[in-house]
Amino acid sequence: MEQFFLSWGWFLSIPLSLTFLLWELQFPGKHLNYIAEFSKEFLPIILRLAFTFISVQLVMYAAAPILSSVKEVVGLSGIFSTPIWLRIVIGVVLADFIYYILHWQMHYNSKILWRLHRYHHSLNEMWVFSGYRVSFLSLIIFQILYSSLTVLDIPRQVSVIFVFSSVTHHLNIKLYSWMKFLDWIVVTPPYHALHHSNRPELRGKNLGGLFTFFDRIFGTYIDPDTICLEKEELGLGGDKTSTVRMMIGI
Ligand SMILES: [Zn+2]
Ligand SMILES: [Zn+2]
Repeated sequence: MEQFFLSWGWFLSIPLSLTFLLWELQFPGKHLNYIAEFSKEFLPIILRLAFTFISVQLVMYAAAPILSSVKEVVGLSGIFSTPIWLRIVIGVVLADFIYYILHWQMHYNSKILWRLHRYHHSLNEMWVFSGYRVSFLSLIIFQILYSSLTVLDIPRQVSVIFVFSSVTHHLNIKLYSWMKFLDWIVVTPPYHALHHSNRPELRGKNLGGLFTFFDRIFGTYIDPDTICLEKEELGLGGDKTSTVRMMIGI
């Protein structure tokens, strides 16, 4: 069952995304030509499904023995005797913190890591399926990150939280002012849309993956309400074609 979940669990994002698509069509944040957008994203969607499947298999067979050795060492600390809910909270916050550090490195410190990430920034419109653009190599890194939750004896199924948030980040939905409080806790579509601006000074901000507090702590936070997102051009600017190298992440 665990094996089946690992291999196919991510495919749950398709019905989830289709449900959100209905919401978008009903209450869009920005009017888009969805037929044109879908034809643009068809290949990235297929690639994402294939890349996810392959990266899960690779991580499952290559990293699993290393992770189980680490788990034995971690177990010596006695942490497994703490309640499971506490380990889930610690594990999710820790995984999100590591994601934040990695994302920061991708934008500020490492040309190699930026190559892994730039395909994701090649999207030009925010809508539920545009966030499926993730390069093969960065998926491998994310799979290792989410698998590492198991060293705290946390069920791998907890990574569904990250799948859910990666889908909701890119939604093109109308958010009402009373929903603003969400920004204080989790990444919302406007919060993440600012990060997709083609202006480098904005692209390096709002790096959070699940929670927003790491941006506030480390000074990479910009309140999305201070920027007119409708006027922002998204993407990488210049040539808009995605190359095979970008898709792989090299
Ligand atoms: Zn980024
Ligand atoms: Zn994104």
